[in-house]
Amino acid sequence: MNFKTKSRNALVVSAVVALGFAASAVQAAEVNVYSARKEALIKPLLDKFTEQTGVAVNLVTGKADALLKRLTSEGANSPADLLITTDAGRLHRAKEAGVTQPMTSEALSASVPAQYRDTENHWVGLSLRARPIMYVKGKVNPSELSTYEDLADPKWKGRVCIRSSGNIYNQSLVASLIATNGAQAVEKWAKDFVGNFARPPKGGDRDQIKGAAAGQCDIAIANTYYFAGMLTSKDEAQKAAAQKVAVFWPNQNGRGAHVNVSGAALTKSSKNTKEAVSLVEFLVKADSQKWYAEVNGEYPVLEGVGVSSTLAEWGTFKADTLNLSKLGELNGEALMLMDRAGWK
Ligand code: FE
Repeated sequence: MNFKTKSRNALVVSAVVALGFAASAVQAAEVNVYSARKEALIKPLLDKFTEQTGVAVNLVTGKADALLKRLTSEGANSPADLLITTDAGRLHRAKEAGVTQPMTSEALSASVPAQYRDTENHWVGLSLRARPIMYVKGKVNPSELSTYEDLADPKWKGRVCIRSSGNIYNQSLVASLIATNGAQAVEKWAKDFVGNFARPPKGGDRDQIKGAAAGQCDIAIANTYYFAGMLTSKDEAQKAAAQKVAVFWPNQNGRGAHVNVSGAALTKSSKNTKEAVSLVEFLVKADSQKWYAEVNGEYPVLEGVGVSSTLAEWGTFKADTLNLSKLGELNGEALMLMDRAGWK
């Protein structure tokens, strides 16, 4: 080592010490995250962000609705900078509640397709999930299937399993139908569709797939990551149930299959806006997208990022390009319509 290098190293060390002092005298850089996603599904990525940037991430996890309630009651005093939650309908609810603000980021606008971002950038999608039709192999020929709209046809009488209208995933699905077909047509559709249910709605998405596998229905509607979770489950019964079922991508000759996102919203109370936005930018980088989508059994929101082998087996599909802000805007109308249609 020559003298020049040595002195340069010494300089670097003292600069770091000085910076460290300055930072702790003011406040160490940090971001506070309220997340409705389980810690194991996000923490490793947050740790990587801290490793790369030196910005600490404080994570609070909880149920989606409880976290929104907490944000609302904390108001301007909330320590949260970001809300990470699932479903565009829920992200929109946070916006409507007045607890979010726009994120200004060229990187986000450039990388995340516009349909997966709030029209005013209050939230941005981090992962994509589809809600296709699933059918029991051997009982349904995929050639009989076509669109969500067609599931109201009498040929499906007593053959459909789907969860309740209280669930936001179904509210968002119906909102997407309203956006395309109009409320009047969708109300008629919903009445006929409900008439085709094999049983009163109960349980979650996995229970619909299990119901189909158990012979209670021939068709189930469920989000893809539940199906992926069952196929890769260590629970043999779940795995066996999932193996009886296959994915059908609906509306491929039209608008495409219904999709939704999990996403991040910048809180209005944020005191670490710059760090918060840089964390969101980090989460939509290709490497992060690949890890996050794979660990959650979801699809990346970023185009050109590969998917897990389980998802790859279902083939590629055309996704509806409706701006997901619409799902939130039409949520109230969807819910009332489902109620009137007798969708329990
Ligand atoms: Fe879910």
